[in-house]
Amino acid sequence: METTRHNPLEYLGTEIAELKNEGLFRRPPVLEGASRARSRINGREVINLSSNNYLGLSDDPRLKEAAIRATESHGVGSGAVRTIIGTQDLHLELESKLAEFKKTEAVLVFQSGFTANAGTVSAILSRQDHIVSDRLNHASIIDGARLSRAKIHVYEHSDMESLHEKLDEARAGAEESGGRILVITDGIFSMDGDIARLPEVVELAEEYEAIMQVDDAHASGVLGAGGRGTVDHFGLHGRVDVQVGTLSKAIGVLGGYVAGSRTLIDFLIHRARPLLFSTSHPPAVTAACITAVDILLSEPEIIERLWENTRFFKDGLTSLGFDTGISETPITPVIVGEGAKAMELSDKLFEAGIFAQGIAFPTVPRDSARVRTMVMATHTREDLGHALEVFERVGKEMNLIP
Ligand SMILES: *Cc1c(COP(=O)(O)O)cnc(C)c1O
Repeated sequence: METTRHNPLEYLGTEIAELKNEGLFRRPPVLEGASRARSRINGREVINLSSNNYLGLSDDPRLKEAAIRATESHGVGSGAVRTIIGTQDLHLELESKLAEFKKTEAVLVFQSGFTANAGTVSAILSRQDHIVSDRLNHASIIDGARLSRAKIHVYEHSDMESLHEKLDEARAGAEESGGRILVITDGIFSMDGDIARLPEVVELAEEYEAIMQVDDAHASGVLGAGGRGTVDHFGLHGRVDVQVGTLSKAIGVLGGYVAGSRTLIDFLIHRARPLLFSTSHPPAVTAACITAVDILLSEPEIIERLWENTRFFKDGLTSLGFDTGISETPITPVIVGEGAKAMELSDKLFEAGIFAQGIAFPTVPRDSARVRTMVMATHTREDLGHALEVFERVGKEMNLIP
């Protein structure tokens, strides 16, 4: 007799149904072709205001050429994890270039910014240690912290008084457990586009003799001379023990890296689990990253274009009367309040040829849902001027601006 098999995953369907009920079920939008300032998304030509490809490098002919050449000389896969026989000469070339770029002794490349953060925090700390972490830090930091089994002390976002309190708490705990303290912050916060108060954070970390780590995912290729990140921006070279960067955003390709002392890097090579247990980058990715860093070193003016566009677009949105929060970077949120309203704004912009994702709870607090905009160096003035006209029309229609 036929019996129907019990479906042990039925509860997932229930959760999906709930998401659909609440209007929160979404299929990821589909990018047809390359990530560009003007892209084809879900069948429509739009001005793309949601890409992390800040400098337009992901579609740069020089990076594509490098990827093709490396594929021809080195193949399509590395064949192993880094520590077995998956370290290719290209990986070492990229790492020494990045170390020169970041002005640190050494760099270790990971498969992503996510694994760089999670793999490092979980490797350098253990159960008796204490992590002092900004409330708005990235998920990869939170997951790494959990994996480390250290005690986590969360301070209010960029609040130095709260950081001080949490450091006191962590020090008391660390003295009792014989552990260490790590202070960790994003360099640029991805939802509000504000910059960490790094000089003050670093000073406090030093006062408590804590390890200092910065996650510069959104600052890599964006902030500091030649896009060297927040440590360079604030002149803090030598005072941040662990700098994480990404190769997936402004660099335009894929990957993450840790920049620091030779000892730190040697330790991670022996202990960071994503590196030990997951295959390394393919040659096309590594070679394209090398070319991207060369471009940052030789053409810092592309970063200047990014910032000119940032000023133009941010000023435009603010003078129209939109609430852009505390942004200081190419990430400019347009804060509207309710989640449904943010989704409506995003949908209306899309109908008018502008792609800017709506972001709601739980990614941001319930009352500060937003449409998040990100300019690229490759947007023309015409692109951004047109986007502002659409924002003005839709914003008035929705009574978001006078
Ligand atoms: C995007 C991001 C990461 C992850 O980087 P990937 O290279 O995309 O894995 C880590 N931290 C922050 C703050 C980010 O914004």
